[in-house]
Amino acid sequence: MSIEVEGLTKFYGNQIAVDDLSFSIKSGEIVGFLGPNGAGKSTTMKMITCFLTPTSGLAKICGIDTSMSPMEVKRQIGYLPEHNSLYLDMYVKEYLGFVAGLYNLKHNADHQIKLIIEKTGLKQEQTKKIGQLSKGYRQRIGLAQAMIHNPKVLILDEPTSGLDPNQISDIRNLIVEFGKDRTVLLSTHIMQEVEAMCDRVIIINKGKIVADDTTSSLQNTFKSTLILNVEFKNEVDESALKTIPGLNKVTANGPNRWKLTAEKGSNLHEKVFQFAVQTGNIILSQNEDEQRLEEIFQQLTK
Ligand code: ADP
Repeated sequence: MSIEVEGLTKFYGNQIAVDDLSFSIKSGEIVGFLGPNGAGKSTTMKMITCFLTPTSGLAKICGIDTSMSPMEVKRQIGYLPEHNSLYLDMYVKEYLGFVAGLYNLKHNADHQIKLIIEKTGLKQEQTKKIGQLSKGYRQRIGLAQAMIHNPKVLILDEPTSGLDPNQISDIRNLIVEFGKDRTVLLSTHIMQEVEAMCDRVIIINKGKIVADDTTSSLQNTFKSTLILNVEFKNEVDESALKTIPGLNKVTANGPNRWKLTAEKGSNLHEKVFQFAVQTGNIILSQNEDEQRLEEIFQQLTK
């Protein structure tokens, strides 16, 4: 296992932030770590990366106990914290040389710096001061810093937060590229990011795991729900729609466009046709919608 967490718990004073968390992540997995603000994601990541001591429980990276050999764990791990502080007066290449020195990469430091600058797309910027660069490029430096010692495990705390859509897409591509032969645990608030990048999702709420599954089977678990997007020719009243038997939820997408939710097997299509006939309306389109991860997340963490 690349990451093993068992009964991991953290109290801040008498407030519990991480509550008896257990999970393990195999080599090569890209796992999305989700949860509302304050759920305990950053605290968990800080404990896994030896920046915070757990109140109880244990975390192992590549079989190495974080409490026994933190230096060895740090060699195996690349960590991009949520608020990554960089030395703004340093030049990009100089800074990465400094980080390589911290990891003691003596003989192959120059080779590693050159490689990581190329991989993270920093070649044009390598002679600039970090303070002159945009947030997207600073995030690339953060990733370069996390990867420079060629770690087996990457822990990324909201790696795309605050970036514009183009920068988000660049950083995502980088993560997927790096994740091909490494283990990645990343936290994010963006569900499409998880759907696009992650094989598996761990959702926590109030310090506890509420879901741990592959992205697709998590969506399948919730497939007992049928979501129907219906477009009528004429406007439809919400109270009239609610007379359709068996509906769980009615959401307006426009005066004549509605999202209807019901249990699977409740003949919703048929009932909607009957409703249209009875009210003298016409159905222009009717199609099933997928249960999005976003809705699953909301149901599990409300
Ligand atoms: P997340 O990353 O999911 O937003 P955090 O791990 O940052 O959650 O925080 C979990 C809980 O612990 C929150 O209630 C937060 O206020 C609290 N917390 C985090 N860091 C500290 C700290 N250094 N001192 C006291 N409470 C903290």
